[in-house]
Amino acid sequence: MKFTEFGLDERLLEGIDSMGYENATPVQEQVIVPILQGKDIIASAQTGTGKTAAFLLPVINKIITEPHDAHLINAVVIVPTRELAVQIAQTMEGLSYFTDVSSIAVYGGSDGTSFTTEKKALSSGVDMVICTPGRMIAHLNMGYVRMEAVKYLILDEADRMLDMGFHDDIMKIISFLPKQRQNLLFSATMPMKMRELARKILHHPLEINIAISKPPEQIVQEAFILYEPQKIPLVKDILRRKDFQSVIIFCSRKSNVKQLSGELRRSKFSIGEIHSDLEQDAREQVLQDFRNKKLKILVATDILSRGIDIEEIDLVINYDVPNDGEDYVHRIGRTARAASTGTAYTFVTEAEQHKFAQIENLLGAPVTKAAVPEQFGPTPEYNPRKSRPSGGGSRRQGGRPGGRPGARQASGRNGHGGHSGARKPRP
Ligand code: AMP
Repeated sequence: MKFTEFGLDERLLEGIDSMGYENATPVQEQVIVPILQGKDIIASAQTGTGKTAAFLLPVINKIITEPHDAHLINAVVIVPTRELAVQIAQTMEGLSYFTDVSSIAVYGGSDGTSFTTEKKALSSGVDMVICTPGRMIAHLNMGYVRMEAVKYLILDEADRMLDMGFHDDIMKIISFLPKQRQNLLFSATMPMKMRELARKILHHPLEINIAISKPPEQIVQEAFILYEPQKIPLVKDILRRKDFQSVIIFCSRKSNVKQLSGELRRSKFSIGEIHSDLEQDAREQVLQDFRNKKLKILVATDILSRGIDIEEIDLVINYDVPNDGEDYVHRIGRTARAASTGTAYTFVTEAEQHKFAQIENLLGAPVTKAAVPEQFGPTPEYNPRKSRPSGGGSRRQGGRPGGRPGARQASGRNGHGGHSGARKPRP
């Protein structure tokens, strides 16, 4: 589903575009409209499904299109960790870039300066506060935070908050909010205690369950942790290991498709390439040749990953880590069709480790790490926490020219979240 179909404000569509999002993810398809209609929601959706934009977009849309007090807090997002607060603030900054909506991330453990910055933003009024419970309570206890205009409450990763013992803190924050408000609760799991919390907070919620599809069990999945320059030699090495009859190599960018195809062609592999620069006729012809086994190897972007039925692929190589768990499942689902076995290899560079760990998280199990042959030299450690990109939010890189500033400064107007006249400059 295209974002233009939701009836969102033009300024938000610009933000979505600059983030590089094209189609809504399943969770976005299911929750955006009910949130726009004012319904309470309880959604089981994990990180990596696009749930942040799923709640931010309709809430920002409502703030900018419905009457609201611009000098008071309109929305409160409560999250378990400062990392999540920063990540949401960054996505917020990107999506709301062309609107006047301001936001600030309020999280614990920082120095006194940031407490003062938060205090300033909270007391002068900021449209959206993205907070960890303890820190928010510290501010609330000081008496300068005005919550009487809050219309939207969002609890994200609510199960984790309960696991971390934040139940009472959450209820305390809620005690400061008006009774009349829209409540959205997102949680990866729905244990009993979550249902109890939901009963206390939500009013006739719409329940939404986003189950991630799992790859067929007969697919052997392995990941190579490597450096970017090791990718092409490793592809060639893998292709020479066995007489593969049908191989698809997925790249996230068409520039990679072109580069890899060129290299493989020079090394006399029987390959075809598919990407959006090719005319439909040319793509059909390549596909036809691949189906007929005239070509053994197909190098393609994700335009090929969904809905195209090719039987008997024995190997899928993810030359780049797919954008999310769904893309991963779709890509590797090209192999092991019709109960045959298949192999799926994923190349993971240092910068992609965090993204890959999110996919593993969604799959519910780590993918076996295969050894890169010694002749290719040393390889990086698999340490996704360390590899987390400092740019955070967007999984499609380079959406907005020049990138975005860091969350803390970016998340409030002029770095303090106040409603000054100086709106965000257009890039
Ligand atoms: P989340 O589940 O909210 O943590 O989102 C996971 C990643 O997907 C984030 O990096 C988002 O920027 C990105 N994302 C969210 N929605 C979309 C979309 N419709 N298209 C492409 N990327 C998206």
